[in-house]
Amino acid sequence: MRAAPFIKLPNKSLEAKVQFRYGLLMAIMIAIISAAACASAAEFFQKSGPLLHTFVELKAYGDNETADVLDGAFTEMERVNSLLNNYDPSSEVSALNTASSRRWVTISPDTFEALNIAQTYARLSGGAFDFTVGPLVSLWGFNKDQPGLADEDPSQAMIKDTMRLVDYRALKFIRHQSVISGRLEHSGMRIDVGAFSKGFAADKALYFLQHHGITSALVAAGGTICAVGSKPDGQPWQIGIRHPRNDSSFLTVVALRDQSVSTSGDYEKFYYKAGKRRSHIIDPRTGYPVTAIQSVTVIAPTGIASDALSTSLFVLGPADGIRLIKKLPGCEALIVTADGEVVYTNGWPQKTIIY
Ligand code: ADP
Ligand code: MG
Repeated sequence: MRAAPFIKLPNKSLEAKVQFRYGLLMAIMIAIISAAACASAAEFFQKSGPLLHTFVELKAYGDNETADVLDGAFTEMERVNSLLNNYDPSSEVSALNTASSRRWVTISPDTFEALNIAQTYARLSGGAFDFTVGPLVSLWGFNKDQPGLADEDPSQAMIKDTMRLVDYRALKFIRHQSVISGRLEHSGMRIDVGAFSKGFAADKALYFLQHHGITSALVAAGGTICAVGSKPDGQPWQIGIRHPRNDSSFLTVVALRDQSVSTSGDYEKFYYKAGKRRSHIIDPRTGYPVTAIQSVTVIAPTGIASDALSTSLFVLGPADGIRLIKKLPGCEALIVTADGEVVYTNGWPQKTIIY
């Protein structure tokens, strides 16, 4: 079982390391995820499909009931998506978004859990990660299939106005006996779950797999991968981390055992305006899309932690980002800046990084 993300452990002395680009081409790609390639008595199963606005893939080793267990884990992720998806008008998060600021909305324990953890990361990151960023995401056109293409950049006045609707502290909860309700304090505020729902759903799938006796599995949802145990031969899972400027090569490979890894990249959703790359992660403190970072990869004890933290560090940048990761047990980070500098924590497990 995994450690909770905030259990206090002795703080490891992590220090930011800066490594400049070096154009080596090594045979590292051979080491990448090869779930099917290790010898074991257990059989290999997989299940995949589009979900959470991305592609979800489950891989597991086990006996002949494993296929059914994977189906169950996928259904569990669909259930989480139906609660949290802010683009689905029937989700609980949409109910919070569309309720008037005076009305409390009853939410399920799972929705509360996800939003409550998200609020913790918003607080930890000083608001760099803010799940109420929805109005800014819409203003910049990132809620569309073709982000920003037809639109002008929003004016300073519009950005300032919209920023008043972004504040994670304005999401309040009350509990009456076992019923939990939530409320956004100002009408027009919008929760956007894009930066943490894949991690949360992957965690739920992982708990489902563990509960059904699976000891060796991977849950991948877009840029987040959660590992159950290790490969059947006891070796850790090997996860290739995409090079932010070359989608056919890897920046590095990380070994995972009962941990999660998430990558946030400026290549996921972006457009060019006046020669500038605008990507889908917005700094809630300035109202502008972040331009200083190519990608951030975070290893953490849970999927929601690595997912929320990779977005947090994308906004915070290397100095503040590494400072935050140092405080969090079991977390490591690797950041590629817009200039191609690679910065990582002292405990980053893999020193072979090819930029
Ligand atoms: P991906 O969705 O590619 O996995 P992330 O996990 O980093 O990448 O999430 C990015 C998404 O989160 C954006 O598309 C947007 O919906 C939302 N978002 C953008 N900026 C922020 C922010 N500062 N804090 C929280 N969520 C954000
Ligand atoms: Mg994220």
